[in-house]
Amino acid sequence: MSTVLIIGAGGVGSVTAHKCAMNAGVFTKIHLASRTIEKPSAIKKDIKKRWGVNIQTHVVDANKSKEVAALIRKTKPSVVINVALPYQDLAIMDACLATVVHYVDTANYEPRDVAHFEYSWQWKYHDRFKKKGIMAILGAGFDPGVTNAYCAYILKKYFDKVRFVDILDANAGSHDKSFATNFNPEINIREVTQAVKHWRKGKGKGTWVKTPAVMNKDSVHFTFNYPIAGPKESYLLFHEEMESLAKNLLGLERMRFWMTFSENYLTHLRVMENIGITRIDSVDYEGKKIVPIQFLKKLLPDPASLATKYTGKTVIGCIVTGVKGKKESTKYIYNVCDHAKCFKEVGSQAISYTAGVPPVIAAMMILQGKWKGAGVFNVEELDPESFLKALAKNGLPHKIINYKPLPAHLGQ
Ligand code: NDP
Repeated sequence: MSTVLIIGAGGVGSVTAHKCAMNAGVFTKIHLASRTIEKPSAIKKDIKKRWGVNIQTHVVDANKSKEVAALIRKTKPSVVINVALPYQDLAIMDACLATVVHYVDTANYEPRDVAHFEYSWQWKYHDRFKKKGIMAILGAGFDPGVTNAYCAYILKKYFDKVRFVDILDANAGSHDKSFATNFNPEINIREVTQAVKHWRKGKGKGTWVKTPAVMNKDSVHFTFNYPIAGPKESYLLFHEEMESLAKNLLGLERMRFWMTFSENYLTHLRVMENIGITRIDSVDYEGKKIVPIQFLKKLLPDPASLATKYTGKTVIGCIVTGVKGKKESTKYIYNVCDHAKCFKEVGSQAISYTAGVPPVIAAMMILQGKWKGAGVFNVEELDPESFLKALAKNGLPHKIINYKPLPAHLGQ
C-alpha cells in the first residue's frame, strides 16, 4: 500500500501517471499535481478510461517549497516523483526533507536565469537526506537515468573496469510539424545551444574537453549506423549523466555523448539563435518585460501534441569498452522504442515515454526495498539489475550485442 505524488503533468508527467496506474498494485493511491488543473484533469480522465483507475489531481506552484510541503502533508505520499521542470528541483527536495518523503526526478537543477545545469546543487543535499533516512534519486529518466544503469549493468556483468563509454541517442521518428522539440522547448533549446564538452582522462585527473556548440559549423559530428534506425548524423553534446558517471565509473578513460539532429532542426535553431528569440534574459516589449525563449515556447507545438502523428523509433544506448582480467571487449546496450506503439499504449510519443517510465520504476525500486539507502544518489550507484528487469516488464527492454569502440579521435 503506497501513495505516490507526481508533480508535473506535461508530456513526461502524463506517461508517469499512466504507468503508475498500470502498476496499481504498487501505487495504491496516485496524486497528480501541476501549475494549473487543466492538464492533470485531462490525464485523470484518460487514465480512468484506459485503466479504470481513479487518480486525484491538485494545483501546486512547485517553485514554492512550503506549498509543495503542504500538498505532501495533505496527500501523504511515500514518494514524490518530480517531472515538472528542472527549475523546481530544489524547492521540491526541500519539501521532501521537511516532510521526510523519498524523492525522484529526471533532470538536474538549473537556475532559470543562467543556462547552466549541474548536479552540484543537488549533491549538496546528501547529508540532509542521509540524516532523515530518506532517498533522493537524481536523473532517473532515460538519459540521464537508464543510460547510467546501462553503464553500471555492463560493468557489473562483464568487466572489472570500464575504459570508454559512448552514449548515443537517436530519434529516428517524424511528425507533421516543420519544427518542434520533443520535450519542454525551453529546457530542450537551452540544452542544445550550450557549449559542448566531453570527458577524457588526462594526466592524473580527467578533464572536460570543449568543442563548438551543436549548431556551430565546426561542431563535431559523424554518421553512426544505429540498429533498426540505420545511419544518422550524430552530434557531440554535453549531457548531464556524464557529470555523475565521470565521478562514479572509476578508471574511466573517455566518455562522450552523441545525439542525432536533422539539418532542418539545426537550421531552425541557427535562425532562432541569430534573431535572438532563444535569449533567456528579459527584454522590454512595449513597457512589458518578456523573456524571448519563454515567448518562443508559447509559439512552438506542445511536445505532447506531437504524439498523434509521430511515426518511427528512438534508439538510445551505450557503447561500453572494458577489461575483464587481461581481456578487453566492447558491448553495445540499447533500447528501441516505437512512437506509434507508445501512442497506442498511453497516448504519448516515445521521448515522453522513455523519460516517463523510468522514474516510476525508480520509485517502485524504493517502495519494494530493492534500492535501499539514505542520501542523494545517481542511478549508477544503485543496483542496475532489478531496475532494468522491471523496466523491461514495463515497456523498455534492452538488447546487448558485441561491438567495437568508436574511434578515439572523434572530438579530439
Ligand atoms: P512539459 O513542459 O511538457 O511539462 C512540465 C510540467 O510541469 C507541466 O505540467 C507544467 O505545467 C508543470 N510545471 C511547470 N512549472 C511548474 C510549477 N512551478 N509548479 C508546478 N508545475 C509546474 O515538460 P516535459 O514533460 O517535456 O518534461 C518534464 C521534465 O522531464 C523536464 O524536467 C525535462 O527536462 C525532463 N526530461 C527528462 C528526460 C530524461 O530522459 N531524463 C527526457 C525528457 C524530459 P504548465 O504546462 O501548466 O506550465
